[in-house]
Amino acid sequence: MYEPTLLQRRYRVMGNEAPLFYDQPLTFVKGEGVWLTAEDGRRYLDVYNNVPCVGHCHPGIVAAMQRQAAQLNIHTRYLNEQVVAYAERMTALHDDPLDCLMFTCTGSEANELALRLARFVTGNTGVIVSDYNYHGNTRSLAELATAMATSEAFSAQARAVPIPCLYRAPAGTLAQQLEDQYIAHLQAAIDSLKAQGTPVAALLIDTLFANESLPRVPAGFVARAAELVRAAGGVLIADEVQSGFARTGEHLWGYQAQGVVPDIVTLGKPMGNGFPLAGVVTSREWVERFGHASMYFNTFGGSPVAAAVGMAVLDAIEDEQLQANALNVGRYLQERLLALAERHELIGDVRGKGLFYAVELVQDRQRQVAASAEARQVVNRLRDQGILISKIGPHDNILKIRPPLVFAQAHADLFVDTLDRVLTTL
Ligand code: PMP
Repeated sequence: MYEPTLLQRRYRVMGNEAPLFYDQPLTFVKGEGVWLTAEDGRRYLDVYNNVPCVGHCHPGIVAAMQRQAAQLNIHTRYLNEQVVAYAERMTALHDDPLDCLMFTCTGSEANELALRLARFVTGNTGVIVSDYNYHGNTRSLAELATAMATSEAFSAQARAVPIPCLYRAPAGTLAQQLEDQYIAHLQAAIDSLKAQGTPVAALLIDTLFANESLPRVPAGFVARAAELVRAAGGVLIADEVQSGFARTGEHLWGYQAQGVVPDIVTLGKPMGNGFPLAGVVTSREWVERFGHASMYFNTFGGSPVAAAVGMAVLDAIEDEQLQANALNVGRYLQERLLALAERHELIGDVRGKGLFYAVELVQDRQRQVAASAEARQVVNRLRDQGILISKIGPHDNILKIRPPLVFAQAHADLFVDTLDRVLTTL
């Protein structure tokens, strides 16, 4: 009798368009640390997933989740020690005046709430984003998205600005010149929003520009951009959904790497190591003003189980010194990737820091033509060799390397040696 495959069953009940990695998709049955086990028993090294930031199925996280789920799980309209203690700990990790936490379940909800807050406190409606962004799946974020297809038209109350990248700049361009040019684009966006009667409420950016493929942004750009937006009556929303939780190795938050203190921070993905825990951090004054005008409640956001999990994630990052690990293993990984670039013409650029790298593949280094087909081949061949990464960028030619933070030097060796072999035999 005909038995449909799991893929065919998925198509039937989830549709053909639900995103799926690889020409031949993988079915996983177990995770542990940086390893994922497929149904045939084969283990794959995870060099891609940032959500399980302290490792897949971390025993401390699983135990905290089990313990709290067995004791009490309830919403935030009752007092609960765990929930308040988590909010205290999370807000203490941010600079002043970021001292209040609003719980959500997803990064999309966090960014949606951040936009509402920004519009409320500024009284403005305009939004500025990057010209290759993704911040979530709500309607207002879909109307801002430029990195993924959306059925909604780009919002008339928004402007998308290009983000400077020293790798893409014409040879000989100084960082300062590039910064000035792109700051002029931002100023034009601010002016045009004002001219049409919808002045800027917020600049919403990922502080490392992760979906934009980690461009080499001149050091002063983000701080200057924030200044301009504030001078025009808007605020800076820092999306830390990918950049946060020690990813850079140097800091806990991506905004610290950019030398700014945002007005609103949004958190997600690694915050719950896979449990749906996300949130918005901003000043108590704004949270109270907004709350007075708009009742904000999120049934599942900030449950005691979410708080217990979030606490265990922070414990693991601290106890296992994962920020230092991201820095040290990240440096090693970067050195090895740079050495690889010396031997493979296909690698046009290696950029990033900590445990987050973009390796841009180009057909020739002078003209920087995207090697999109090659990137697809590399990702699929690495999969065949037991290694998981992905690709990003408008031309899908940039390898995205972003493993769980428990990635060790031996894992970096296994990954780079395998990538070397794949590139040699392409
Ligand atoms: N912000 C950024 C920068 C993201 O990359 C994503 C998800 N890819 C989101 C927000 C949305 O998060 P979620 O999928 O949890 O809604």
